Amino acid sequence: MSSTDLSAKLFADACAVIPGGVNSPVRAFSSVGGTPRFITSAKGCWLTDADDNRYVDLVCSWGPMILGHAHPAVVDAVQTAVTGGLSFGAPTPSESELAREIVDRVAPVELLRLVNSGTEATMSAIRLARGFTGRAKIVKFSGCYHGHSDALLADAGSGVATLGLPSSPGVTGAAAADTIVLPYNSVAAVADVFARLGDEIACVITEASPGNMGTVPPLPGFNAELRRITAEHGALLIVDEVMTGFRVSRSGWYGLDPVDADLFTFGKVMSGGLPAAAFGGRSEVMSRLAPLGPVYQAGTLSGNPVAMAAGLATLRAADDSVYATLDANADRLTGMIGEALTKANVAHQISRAGNMFSVFFSDDPVTDFASARATDTWRFPAFFHGLLDAGVYPPPSAYEAWFVSTALDDEAFERIDSALPRAAHAAAVATA
Ligand SMILES: *Cc1c(COP(=O)(O)O)cnc(C)c1O
Repeated sequence: MSSTDLSAKLFADACAVIPGGVNSPVRAFSSVGGTPRFITSAKGCWLTDADDNRYVDLVCSWGPMILGHAHPAVVDAVQTAVTGGLSFGAPTPSESELAREIVDRVAPVELLRLVNSGTEATMSAIRLARGFTGRAKIVKFSGCYHGHSDALLADAGSGVATLGLPSSPGVTGAAAADTIVLPYNSVAAVADVFARLGDEIACVITEASPGNMGTVPPLPGFNAELRRITAEHGALLIVDEVMTGFRVSRSGWYGLDPVDADLFTFGKVMSGGLPAAAFGGRSEVMSRLAPLGPVYQAGTLSGNPVAMAAGLATLRAADDSVYATLDANADRLTGMIGEALTKANVAHQISRAGNMFSVFFSDDPVTDFASARATDTWRFPAFFHGLLDAGVYPPPSAYEAWFVSTALDDEAFERIDSALPRAAHAAAVATA
């Protein structure tokens, strides 16, 4: 293995001033072990770390970088925006341009509010659903992650799953009491809870296609059933497309599985790697937001012009050929991974949702958080480090999605192809 001395030193420096040395837990490599790589630059599909090691990036900043890093059109747009000033605390034209781009792509979204993170988007959508319906209870699914607001942390995916936390200290009983957590993909569980508590439930929030317990797509018709049941009981449906939005198609998961939710949340791809996110939906609901209505929501840096420029340049570049390339790259990559694991005799499932996927070590299909947790996740660290040591950077957790970009080139695929046999062997000989 090449040196990681400088990353180790930078991690020690970071740990002296930042809890755990990171500003988002999964970056710390807690579940896979080893030294987190400190990235100093990136271009296309390649990451460069402090020790000058190069990696094929299969995380893509957890989804946003569909065009690869430092894409010329995005860099140009950001540089132009920066020259014009960073933030004004007054409306700017680019906010409505980005909102228009999103409204035009996702038919049920008539009005859109821009915020700074996916966490804010889902938190605000929940407040709006409660304000609109006058009801308190919300339904979420086990293993789905909707950011780290109090009400939504219960039994969550992503880092909460990676660290094996049922919830989080600091979330009061009162904040969590109105959150009902159900098993994912179970229409029966949803129907049952609505039969008992239907007129107290403000909304169901679901990941459009979950990617935070690993990639676990909805069974055919699941999202449509959520729409039917919520409508029957006067509750809202919130579809969280923070991960899938503008990644799996021009219109996100909505483009593959067009279910008309009341509210959608977006983040990641829509801001091209800068901090911005959004929530939107039908105008009857969205017009309850301040200043039109009484439901309060605000943000000093919301709609920041530099973030708008990065998002607009990314979405404008993301035409049909981009999505065809992302799908083709995911096909090629999952084909290679499957072949290597089969040759090494490792039981596995490659769970796909559009161009997102996860590798589960199991003979059985994964359909919910319980079946994700029942897989041989202890094989994952060996597989991960087998790839990382050979210059391929997959997500550092068994419970995360892998992300491709259009920038994956022949050199990258050759690197992955030569890394896979040893990584697959390491997974095969790993012990629990
Ligand atoms: C990443 C993510 C969030 C949270 O977004 P942040 O910008 O990290 O706050 C919410 N929902 C889903 C589905 C996500 O993947």
